[in-house]
Amino acid sequence: MSTASTILTFLHTGNPTGLKFLVEHGDARCLFDFGREHAPGRTPFSLGLEPRPGREVADLVAVGAAPRLEGVYAGDAWDGRTHLFITHMHLDHTGLIPLLGPGVPLYYPDAMEPVRAAADSSGYLPWRRPTGSGVADGEAIAVGSIRVRFVAVDHDVPGATGFLVETPETSLAFTGDNRWHGLRPDLTEAFADTARGVDLLIQEGVSLGSVPVEGAPPPLCEADAIAELGRALAEAPGLVIVNCYGMNRERVAGLAAGCATAGRRLLMEPQMAAMSGWPDVLGSTDPIRDDPRGYCLQLGFESLPLLIDLQPPSGSVWIQSGGAPMGPFDPAYAVLEAWAARFGLELRTVTSSGHSRPEDVVRMVATVHPKVVLPVHSRAPEALLVPGVPSFLPHAGVAYRVADILAGASSAPSG
Ligand SMILES: [Zn+2]
Repeated sequence: MSTASTILTFLHTGNPTGLKFLVEHGDARCLFDFGREHAPGRTPFSLGLEPRPGREVADLVAVGAAPRLEGVYAGDAWDGRTHLFITHMHLDHTGLIPLLGPGVPLYYPDAMEPVRAAADSSGYLPWRRPTGSGVADGEAIAVGSIRVRFVAVDHDVPGATGFLVETPETSLAFTGDNRWHGLRPDLTEAFADTARGVDLLIQEGVSLGSVPVEGAPPPLCEADAIAELGRALAEAPGLVIVNCYGMNRERVAGLAAGCATAGRRLLMEPQMAAMSGWPDVLGSTDPIRDDPRGYCLQLGFESLPLLIDLQPPSGSVWIQSGGAPMGPFDPAYAVLEAWAARFGLELRTVTSSGHSRPEDVVRMVATVHPKVVLPVHSRAPEALLVPGVPSFLPHAGVAYRVADILAGASSAPSG
């Protein structure tokens, strides 16, 4: 029996910095996720500001957007200890991988390989070389005395996973990003069952503390979002433009099915087409201008000037369905509204969150029933209250002994 302690260190707790943390036991060290948060207007490098070429790591570390780590970034020799595990392809979990050193062992769920390869080849996220190892759902990787098992969850991108982490003295589960209202809630439920009874649960809490907007429609499940897109495609007398996110292949497949039913040809921009696996790429705008009712276009924010060429007729609609800007909190949203107003487009939002609703976060914690839950990746981690399961709100940069977290919980009243 090893006498080493299990050490848990959050490098970033996840808002507005991509969640990333270390689990260490003896000489073994596992790093979980390695991203940059999309927080327009809230982080130093946003609204078009980028780290300077050749100085990316130093610039990102200087503003707190990347953690200070030796032996991990390109340019450093590998420390011989750190192994990186990735939950899914979203940039707030992967955005620093282009800066990862070539010697660092890198593991990701093999079911995300199609979107990983497409993001890499399309230039959306140039991936580290060598690319690392895809790991099958249910498989475990041993890093010294630490064992990391991949357990799939449902999210709005293919191949998302959570992890079960075991050391000789303790067990942790990390939910990754997940939801219970997607097309595969059985995956998320099976994760909860598999993780049941762990010592620590590291729980994503993106939705915690969100305040319902008065008069706003209720949030949609994925199936309802796809059905509502289908209705818009069938009913709109003009052009339908959908700003969706290519990596959300289920959404794109639903959109494509709605287009087929409505008699519209779906055309996508090259990068989003690559990431979604959709073959039909937008070329000339002339045929669309001549027959707007015959088409549905995927366009992103940067392509708004195409409206000048498209001249969408009245009865056309721009649908926000997962592409940026995500909402009025993004300064780009007012720009989108200005374009829509100028060109007489109805601006609608038809989407479904990739993240568990607050009541489903509680369901996950209650089902797993860990000794302690650590809510992270959240603006309001303190909003998580689950009877019988004490919460521990970690601070970034502090190396915690897991045994101390557990001891503190057993001596404190549970919330
Ligand atoms: Zn995500």
